[in-house]
Amino acid sequence: MSASPLQRRVFAILSILYGVLVVGCVPWASRTVSVAPSVVGIYGIGMLFADLCTAAMLARLFLSQRRPALLVLVCGYLFSAGVVLAYTLSFNGAVLAGRLFGDDYTASALFVALRLGTALLFVTTVLVESYARSARAKPYLLYVACAATLLVCVALAVVFSGYYLTVPAAVREYFSETGQIICGATIVLYCVGACIIWRRHAFNDPLYLWLALILVASAADLILSSAAGARFTVGWYIAHCSSVVSSYLLLTFLLGELAAVARSPGAMVIAIRYTAAIAIAMAAIILRWTLLPWLKSDVPYATLFGAVAVAVWMGGWRPGLTAAIVGLAGTALLIGQPQSFAANDGWNTALGLAVYVATCALIIGLGEALRKARDDYRRSQEMYKEVVLELKQRAAELQQANSVKSVFLATLSHELRNPLAPLRNGIAILRRRAPEGPGDVYAMMERQFGLLTRLIDDLLDVSRVDRGKLELHRETIAVESFIDAAIETARPNIEGKSHELVVHYAPRSFHVEGDSTRLAQVIANLLNNAAKYTPASGRIELSTRTEGPQLVISVRDNGIGIPPADLARIFDLFVQLDASKTREAAGLGLGLALARSLVALHGGELKAQSAGVGQGSEFQVHLPLASAPSETPHPPGRHLHVFDDNGATSISMGALWGNGGSSLH
Ligand code: ADP
Repeated sequence: MSASPLQRRVFAILSILYGVLVVGCVPWASRTVSVAPSVVGIYGIGMLFADLCTAAMLARLFLSQRRPALLVLVCGYLFSAGVVLAYTLSFNGAVLAGRLFGDDYTASALFVALRLGTALLFVTTVLVESYARSARAKPYLLYVACAATLLVCVALAVVFSGYYLTVPAAVREYFSETGQIICGATIVLYCVGACIIWRRHAFNDPLYLWLALILVASAADLILSSAAGARFTVGWYIAHCSSVVSSYLLLTFLLGELAAVARSPGAMVIAIRYTAAIAIAMAAIILRWTLLPWLKSDVPYATLFGAVAVAVWMGGWRPGLTAAIVGLAGTALLIGQPQSFAANDGWNTALGLAVYVATCALIIGLGEALRKARDDYRRSQEMYKEVVLELKQRAAELQQANSVKSVFLATLSHELRNPLAPLRNGIAILRRRAPEGPGDVYAMMERQFGLLTRLIDDLLDVSRVDRGKLELHRETIAVESFIDAAIETARPNIEGKSHELVVHYAPRSFHVEGDSTRLAQVIANLLNNAAKYTPASGRIELSTRTEGPQLVISVRDNGIGIPPADLARIFDLFVQLDASKTREAAGLGLGLALARSLVALHGGELKAQSAGVGQGSEFQVHLPLASAPSETPHPPGRHLHVFDDNGATSISMGALWGNGGSSLH
């Protein structure tokens, strides 16, 4: 899992805030502030609760992820909880009237031990995490390292608290100097940890991001309390308060991560959401409580609105409501009732409460709406990703299927072509050896053989186009040359069905750049189709004209026509419309697909038009015009061919088109 942009933003904002806090408070750090020792009691209870919750959540995370670094962190938080408890109980007047154990120096020594010990554990966490990622990591070594560090920390705490109890008074004189040096070393340790994370560019990992935040927050607190130098000063007080607030913020951050890991909305996720809501509300109350010496009990709910908003955003309206209620109760407990109650001014208090309730309701309502929109957006993003993935899979499958088809076509056409030559020779030999044999059978065999050859040639060409292996022999050619060749090829089919063919060339001769054999193949194909799909004695017109920089060759018939819905489809491979109508016309549905590919290879376009079934069809070949190679004499006026198996028709057509026409029969 990688850190979300929101997590990174939170990290950046909190780090900046800690920086501002340190820079803003250091100048006033040594000033005394009027707070009671019970502040340490609240600090201790707050920290204890936050540390235990964090340890529990980390343990849960460790059980699912098995990362040794998490185990060190659990130890760190348990250690912190234990030492914080000892610190609070040994602080004069924190919980009880006096202290439970130790003397004046015990609490200070424990505070130093707490900072040094947790710093050691956090830096060990960073190192353990980096080691665990390396290939030669040995798990048992990691656990040994965790245990050893924890032991060192506990020993540190015991020695620190005990040392000052037993050492003579002369040594105690150096207490604050020693404490300052240890604090300085601890700050360096925090910085080392943060630097390791920075150097590894590990901010992508939420665990590292979280660790970095702990290091930044702890360093800020320690700098402040070191700058303060003594108890009951601004630096000392703010460092204590900021530690508690940070603990709850970090807990919320961790809970957010846990909720993201546990995706299914089970009881665990719900518990996490409510715990996070309570944690963030506690952070807000303690933040407000920190400001007591300055703000007194004015604007008691000021910090809670943000907490409610975060709780709604993280968990929905129910955790948001929980945060609002916990915030209200906590404020009453910690900050006390507003002065106005004491002054018997019930109205003001009621008004303040009403404003709090109304504002929370607004935040919860709007937050819930935003949350829903966010969830919808995330869902749609996920769906989008799934669809894209599926499309990619489909595309890969199609590509695979297509390449299989290409190979099949190539092999098939080659294998089919091989026996053709011996067969053709066989028919010729038969004719020569037995010329008196059945002529009609020979003719039938030759016809069928021609048909077979054409089909296989088409198949071969389609396969070549498909694999991009069709080569064009380009030259500048006069339009009439390849059209005449095409007419020659298609003539048997046109005559075979007694069609009338009218050819009308444009008044000027035009040239195109291309392969004359292939272009003749295209036109012959269109003419053959026109002949095939037009009932006997139909009329086929072939004409050329220009449209801007393009030459248009049109082949029009008055045959069976094409339904408008099928006009685009007929150019696809193997597509044959209504087989019952076209049964007599043998074919594979390759001709138009091949013709279109060939025209496209020439930089042109093949279009079909038909007014509908029974209305005839028109096919137009659009080709880019080329300039003539040199001055080519060409017949003046139009150039017309007419041919028909009925001699009278061709003669009359020739007469109809005037002198420039020629009539063929
Ligand atoms: P084939 O002619 O081998 O079936 P084609 O690719 O040449 O394959 O043509 C595809 C389909 O387009 C034909 O089966 C036919 O239904 C339709 N078609 C082609 N030319 C015409 C035409 N001139 N008139 C009506 N239909 C046509």
